[in-house]
Amino acid sequence: KRVTTDMETLTKEVERFAENKKLEIESLKVRENYRREFLGNISHELKTPLFTVQGYILTLLEGAMKDKSVRKKYLQRANKGVERLIYIIKDLDMITKLEVGDLNLNEEDFNIIELVQNVFDLLEMKAAKKRITLTFDVDYEDSIFVYADRERIQQVLTNLIVNSIKYGVKDGTTEVSIEEFVQNKVLIRITDNGEGIEKENITRLFERFFRVDKSGSRKEGGSGLGLAIVKHIVEAHKEKIYVESQLEVGSEFSFTLEKAK
Ligand code: ADP
Repeated sequence: KRVTTDMETLTKEVERFAENKKLEIESLKVRENYRREFLGNISHELKTPLFTVQGYILTLLEGAMKDKSVRKKYLQRANKGVERLIYIIKDLDMITKLEVGDLNLNEEDFNIIELVQNVFDLLEMKAAKKRITLTFDVDYEDSIFVYADRERIQQVLTNLIVNSIKYGVKDGTTEVSIEEFVQNKVLIRITDNGEGIEKENITRLFERFFRVDKSGSRKEGGSGLGLAIVKHIVEAHKEKIYVESQLEVGSEFSFTLEKAK
């Protein structure tokens, strides 16, 4: 009698062991796939600008160098490609740090109104090129202090506003507003009347490398990492990010921040 019970216990243990091993291997496989996909994405993102740069250099070497105006134009374009590569590498560096939790927040009290104004100043030219008006709507006088990592929040605002310009329409608007939210929080909204996002794509926006327009000849450059970075930074602050969008109407991204005490 006892022998059978022991046998049963043993069998159960063996089964449990096998089940655990299976789960372990599956999770390793998931991680391995994840890594493989990440590397695949990186090389894909780097290839387009690299080949562009190479294209201009080769054309110059093959004779275009002789014409002064062509030479200048091609060198400028090659330089744009290099700038884009640098931009992608910076984003990759940032996302890697954020994903391994290697980014310490440097939180302090600062005036969020001033920060939005700074970001507007920096992006004014970019917006003007597309004749997009940047507007700011606040309930407060001229200061509202929040407690957060200023530099990271500047990046969040920059990424969101740059997107509203990139995916905005000519003569469109981007509005930033700040309002009281639940107790001790403010809600910062970035609203555009741009191309908008289809419902089925909204849930995937914050994934690394996700883009609505996947064609290699996208008119808007970028790394496909901007929103993944934004989400990581907001969540590192233990805050929330929301998105609402309608195709051909516009998008609204918003996130919360803690008010300074
Ligand atoms: P990137 O802009 O480099 O492609 P992001 O992670 O910043 O990468 O954005 C991912 C995708 O989300 C974009 O490619 C675009 O399709 C979509 N998107 C982001 N912001 C907006 C916006 N304001 N309006 C419309 N589409 C947007």
